[in-house]
Amino acid sequence: MRRKKHKATRRALRFYRISHGFRQPYKVLLDGNFVHALQEMRKGDAKDLIFRLLGDAVKCYTTPCVQGELKKLGKDFNGARQALKQFPLHKCGHEERCSAAECLLAQLGDKNEEHFFVATQDKALQRQCMAVPGGAVLFASVNGLHLEQPSALQRQAVAAKEQQQLVPSQAERRSVALAGAEGEAGQPRDRPLFRRHKAKGPNPLAVRKKQKLTNAATPGGGGAQQQQQPQPQQQQRPALQKTQQMQQKRAAAAGSGGEQQQEKRKRARRRSKGGEGGAAAGGGSD
Ligand SMILES: [Zn+2]
Repeated sequence: MRRKKHKATRRALRFYRISHGFRQPYKVLLDGNFVHALQEMRKGDAKDLIFRLLGDAVKCYTTPCVQGELKKLGKDFNGARQALKQFPLHKCGHEERCSAAECLLAQLGDKNEEHFFVATQDKALQRQCMAVPGGAVLFASVNGLHLEQPSALQRQAVAAKEQQQLVPSQAERRSVALAGAEGEAGQPRDRPLFRRHKAKGPNPLAVRKKQKLTNAATPGGGGAQQQQQPQPQQQQRPALQKTQQMQQKRAAAAGSGGEQQQEKRKRARRRSKGGEGGAAAGGGSD
């Protein structure tokens, strides 16, 4: 039973939070008869009970009109009057004090924009509050505190509001109508709204060079060119060997003695080893 009540309370709270923007700390307007009922049933402090029911921070208020009514009711309601004194007064704006029911209902207004919960035992006031689109009611019973379930009227109002949001507004309709008129008047419908970027060819960076492709395709024609290039290097080598041999022969013919001849031999060796480097070294020495 308790679990069922808890789920119903959660569901009602979710409705008020989502559909009407109720936020914690929840504001509760206390009626004198509600506090009196709690004292009679010995349930405990009103604020603690409401906090336990709603499960979030709570701010409780009362109004000067409610206190004035309790004062008129006499000694039997002195306890409730004293209990209400601990709560801050909400400025109801009534210069001449009215009945508690009128005062509390006036605080809700047309839409309960200030998101008040009204805690009352007055059945007529409860019905009037639940007729307001964002009205929320708390009441006490032998089983404890209860949050009144949203009325059918309130649910219908929320559903109608959601339906209105689904229907396109006047501005949206005008824009759609204009777009339709343009389409009929001038431009043909077959024309696409945007052009697709078509691939014009393969990515040039991802394609091999044409020369290599032709070489691979025709090994007879391109291969001959490639073989011709290393030939001069091969021809140079026997020519160098010949010059070395000639120099050595000349040196042998001239004779093995003498420092000048030895230097000439060294120069010849350098030339044979280094090519250009040897030739540059020889030029520098001269
Ligand atoms: Zn008032």
